[in-house]
Amino acid sequence: MARIAIAGFLHETNTFVPALTEWEAFAQEGAWPGAVTGEDIFTRLAGLNLGIAGFMEEATKRNHVLLPLAWAMAQPSGVVSHAAFERGVAAILDPLKGQRVDAVYIELHGAMVTEHYDDAEAELLRRLRAQIGPHIPILGTLDLHANVSRDLALIPDFLTSYRTYPHTDWGLSGTRAALWFERVMEWGVTAGKAFRQAPFLVPVTTGCTYTEPSGGLYRLIETIEAETGAALSLNMGFPPADIADVGPSVLAYAASQASADEAADRLFAALLAAESGFAAHQPRAVHEAVGYAMQRAVSASKPVILADTQDNPGAGSPSNTTGLINELLAQGADHALVGILHDPDAARKAHEVGIGGEIDRLGGGGTGPGQEPARGAWRVTALSDGRFNGTAPMLRNKHSSMGPTAIVKQGGVEVLLASIRQQPIHLETFSHIGRDPRGVSILGLKSSAHFRAGFQAIAEEIIVCLAPGDNPEDPAALPFKKIRKGLRLKPQG
Ligand SMILES: [Zn+2]
Repeated sequence: MARIAIAGFLHETNTFVPALTEWEAFAQEGAWPGAVTGEDIFTRLAGLNLGIAGFMEEATKRNHVLLPLAWAMAQPSGVVSHAAFERGVAAILDPLKGQRVDAVYIELHGAMVTEHYDDAEAELLRRLRAQIGPHIPILGTLDLHANVSRDLALIPDFLTSYRTYPHTDWGLSGTRAALWFERVMEWGVTAGKAFRQAPFLVPVTTGCTYTEPSGGLYRLIETIEAETGAALSLNMGFPPADIADVGPSVLAYAASQASADEAADRLFAALLAAESGFAAHQPRAVHEAVGYAMQRAVSASKPVILADTQDNPGAGSPSNTTGLINELLAQGADHALVGILHDPDAARKAHEVGIGGEIDRLGGGGTGPGQEPARGAWRVTALSDGRFNGTAPMLRNKHSSMGPTAIVKQGGVEVLLASIRQQPIHLETFSHIGRDPRGVSILGLKSSAHFRAGFQAIAEEIIVCLAPGDNPEDPAALPFKKIRKGLRLKPQG
């Protein structure tokens, strides 16, 4: 039995989004609970598909005593403000002062960038290490999209990343950390640690584990772990981050340096060999994608899904671009439904005019690509408070909250407007307001891959569609300045 402090501080930062991310974004409830501290961690987070929830459940089964510190996560967005970072770090480190613990478990994303730190999680771990001293093991979990630096890999004693994208095994990553706990305590400070960085970036959509080569690479992890006794992680990286350590990496932790190196080398070789497989993925331009979907819909028995990946809020995009909506209107698409368009102003107006009323513009209005509003008469066809119970395994949050929500319609195109920015993960995103997504011909989703956990089963075909947005599918389109020398901007690029 050990006494383990538990905490979490997660953000995936798109450094190309101009607005800073303030503490309010961490405090707000949305697709998951807002920031929590102390005992509330047990009541608010238990049972959710989160690393800390998986860790709590398994560690409690193994009779460990948990000291809950603080947990906070914001929707992916721009650089985290210095004040927000310091507040999040203090919430974790202050209640730990003077406590006797045997280990610390911390849930991180691994792609947080702040005003002062390009490698924010390593800074957090550095301060944690300084506070607890060199002998208390630090265990953690990372998102599959972590941009891992050498420090982030080597300061802690054990890290394990999700192995699915969509992240249906998010909670399982915490379970895994708890299952390895005794071995990590045995290894102690002499554990072997290995870190390898890939020489190329992988576009976000092609890392989806429902497709190859990604699926096969993650299946390989378990084989190598069984044969070497090392704990392995493969991080795909998060491309829209202008930092030195952007991109895929491999991590290994083991009883000895030789085992860690052997395991890391085997997985790293497989990652390098998969480069041409990643390069083979070909998305379609929005004009071509809409034309193809309309043609396909004629004979399809299920909806054709267009993934509007470049405006994916899960990659920090504003989720308010109109390229796909305007293209569907221009080509005269029928029985089309698009969501989630983040436009609190239009949602408020829709609630004011009521069902049957009209509003004259949607979306856009900001700076950046795809910000031309979708104009014309949009008739309000449904309203809700945006609260629903989501059932997709990716985020099984009992209560998802989108704030005031509406469906508006022009021609054959319906759009779901919401007030709290998030990805469409659950069928209930639409069905809670009376729109069964199974009943439409074309479904446009502002998401890269997470939607697949809820929507793949209802899709005739999924097309990655390139409409303007802040999350370019092709990392080579990003104006990088700080990435490390020699890194190629796409597979075989
Ligand atoms: Zn991720």
